[in-house]
Formats: sequence, C-alpha cells, structure tokens
Amino acid sequence: MQAKYDIIIVGGGMAGSCLALALANTSLRIAVIEAAPLSRKQNDDAGKRAIALSWGSRCLLKQLNVWNELQEAGAVVIKQIHISDQGGFGKTRLSAAEQKVEALGYVVEAVKIEAALSEKLASLDVDMICPAELLTYTVSSEGVEVTIKQGNEESSLFCRLIVGADGGQSVVASLAGLERCEQAYNQQAITALIQTESEQQQIAYERFTPEGPIAMLPHVTGAYSLVWAMPPTQAKEIMALSNEAFASALQAGFGHWLGGLSIDGPRQCFPLNLSYVRHPISDRVVLIGNAAQQLHPIAGQGFNLGLRDAALLADVVRTKWGEVAVNEILKVYADRRKVDKHLIVGFTDKLVKTFSTNHGGVSFIRNSGLLLIDKLPVLKNQLAIQAMGLATRLARLNKG
Ligand SMILES: Cc1cc2nc3c(=O)[nH]c(=O)nc-3n(C[C@H](O)[C@H](O)[C@H](O)COP(=O)(O)OP(=O)(O)OC[C@H]3O[C@@H](n4cnc5c(N)ncnc54)[C@H](O)[C@@H]3O)c2cc1C
Repeated sequence: MQAKYDIIIVGGGMAGSCLALALANTSLRIAVIEAAPLSRKQNDDAGKRAIALSWGSRCLLKQLNVWNELQEAGAVVIKQIHISDQGGFGKTRLSAAEQKVEALGYVVEAVKIEAALSEKLASLDVDMICPAELLTYTVSSEGVEVTIKQGNEESSLFCRLIVGADGGQSVVASLAGLERCEQAYNQQAITALIQTESEQQQIAYERFTPEGPIAMLPHVTGAYSLVWAMPPTQAKEIMALSNEAFASALQAGFGHWLGGLSIDGPRQCFPLNLSYVRHPISDRVVLIGNAAQQLHPIAGQGFNLGLRDAALLADVVRTKWGEVAVNEILKVYADRRKVDKHLIVGFTDKLVKTFSTNHGGVSFIRNSGLLLIDKLPVLKNQLAIQAMGLATRLARLNKG
C-alpha cells in the first residue's frame, strides 16, 4: 500500500534534518528521503569542513534540542573575528565582549552536526527513508505523487507538500522548473587543518588577498581549519605543492597573525559559485538550504541561512497547517524569508567581488572601509549583527 505523508523532505543533510526535527512531535506525518547513509558521509573528507555557526544558529539549534550534543562533540567558541587585507592598512576586529554576548559564534565539523541531527531524528516520530533517491514527482490538486528508488526497487509515496532540501544540484528544483541563477566566481576553495606556532585564542581570521579570501577558524584539536579561495589554475598548483611549500605559500598570503604555519594532514578542493533560485516556491513545492541558494563560503553563511529557512518554514507550517491551503502557507513563507535571503546573498556576493581584486582604487577604498568600520561603532555593530545571524528576527520553534 502507498505510504501517505503530510510532508516529504527530500535531502537529509543539515537543512533537511533541521526542518524534520522542527516538525517532529507535531501531528504531521513527516518522511525524509536521503540518498547517502551517514556512514558514507562520515568517510567523506568533505564532511570534515568546519562550519562557523552564528550566535543566531546556536539559538535555533538549542530550540531543536541538539545544542548540548554539539557542545559535547567539540563546538569551539569564537570570541573575536579579525578581518584584514593583505598588504593594506585597513583591519577591524569584532568582539563578543563589545556585543555583550557569550560568543559571536562557534565552529563545528559538518559531519558532527549531521551526526547529532541524525541521532536526534532517530529518536523521534519521523520516517527516515535511507538510502533512497528521489526519481520524480507529479503534482495534482490532491497532493504530490513521489517516486523513489531504493536499491533496484522503485516505489511511490504520497504527500501534501514536498520540500527540496537536496543541495545545490537540487532535483526537486529542476523537476519543478524553478530556474537557477548561476554565477561562477572563477575560484576554488582549498580546505585543510593548519598547525600554528601561536596557541589558539578563540579568534576567527578572515584575510583578503587579491586572489581570494583566506579564512582560518579555530578547530577543536587546537589547530585552525583553513578555507583558502583562489583561481582554479592557482588552486591546482597549490594542491600539488609539498606540505612545506604549501605552508609557506599560505604564510605569504595570510601573514604572521598566528606565527609560523605548518600542515601534515589531507587537503580538499571545492569549486565555488553562487547559485540561487529567485522564487523558491512552486505548486506544493518549496526549496530550503543549498537547494534554494548555494553561496561562496567567504562569510560562512550557507548553513546559517539554510537553518533559518528550515526554522521559518517549520514556524509557518506549525501555525498555519490545516487552516489555509498549502500554497498559501508557502506564499507566507517566501514572503517572510525574502529580506534575509536577499541581504545575505547580496552581502556575500559583494564581499567576494570587492575583496578579490586590486583593480583601480578598489584596494584603497576597501582598506578605508575596514578602517572606518573599526572606528565607527554603528558600522561595527551592524557587521557584528550580520555575522551573528541576527539581522532579521529569528523564528520561534517551541513555546519556550
Ligand atoms: C569549504 C566550505 C566551507 C563552508 N563553511 C561554512 C560555514 O563556515 N558556515 C556555514 O554556515 N556554511 C558553510 N558552508 C556551507 C554549508 O556547508 C552548506 O550551506 C550546507 O552544507 C548545506 O546544507 P544542505 O542540507 O542545504 O545541503 P547538502 O549538505 O548538500 O545536503 C543535501 C542532501 O540531499 C541529499 N540528496 C541530494 N539529492 C538527492 C536525491 N535525489 N534524493 C535523495 N537525497 C538527495 C544529499 O545526499 C545530501 O545529504 C561551507 C561550504 C563549503 C564547501
């Protein structure tokens, strides 16, 4: 017999799992369809990328009852963010003390977030269908017929609403005909763990160079987690360097803020682009997380934004389900999400473009800008609020 659900979430990555958690313990019947089992993700080096969680994300993860698990898994506190420009005079420092918060954010490995979410989901009333892949779906006035593949078997499910949380190559988006705006940055990101001569000080570093930005995030091991963006040809050369040559190339770009740098572990390389869907809803279909927008990691905003998608969608569904039609719920969601998405997509895009060039007077202007931010508390607060993920009101996921 065909299984029937209220909501099927395609993709049990970080965004999809957060949505499922936020909707568990309601009267709604929820299923998550996920192609890759957690054990496969845990063996994938990409899962080791460090995710900077904003203060706002920490508040949402606390409401989802997974924050304690993430702290136990080794969330590293960010007390300061240090922003500088290679070869320039401008720099600024954001601090938790100035903002009167415990932390500006935290750093946790992606795979640890996925593991904590998946463990919590396993204890709740959500059907996790994994490994299983979405093949296709058709929408009618009654609902959505969803065809999935498990091994060699195809089967069909039914739901009232389908959520695409299936990442940057979203099948849900393309089946709905939701057009993606794509912009290549001509940059790739190299990630690795870097040992530093200076002891870790709960400071995250963002260093801009004409080739691309360098982010160094404090890691639970006491090392720093590197995200280093640069043009693809340069990335190929840098990836081929010995550990010693790699460390000295990094030192030349990053400077001596952390003393001498060294590396002895693996490195990964990711292509970088901006890809987003302008209007993330269609008939009984909605996209969240990377399926709706995939950003450059320069400002560490991708998952933070995806989590806010999941939180607001859950909030709107919980308050309006059964009272108004599904498509009305989606319109309310899309309307209320517009400002935050627009702000973050635009902010990240401008940051990449302004800070990855030395053309004309751009270098002087951005250094003056950094200096101005440092001297003007109003601007500094504004930047800190953005970094903390508090520029727009957070959704409320429980009564507390
Ligand atoms: C180097 C790097 C550093 C980053 N740093 C940060 C940071 O500091 N802070 C931050 O907030 N963000 C950061 N990000 C971004 C963050 O990793 C992403 O925004 C986040 O992982 C997106 O989660 P998601 O659940 O939306 O998508 P995904 O993680 O892509 O998950 C999609 C899921 O859908 C499943 N799936 C796909 N297709 C199907 C199908 N047809 N059927 C069933 N399942 C399917 C996949 O298996 C996957 O599990 C970084 C990204 C990179 C590359």
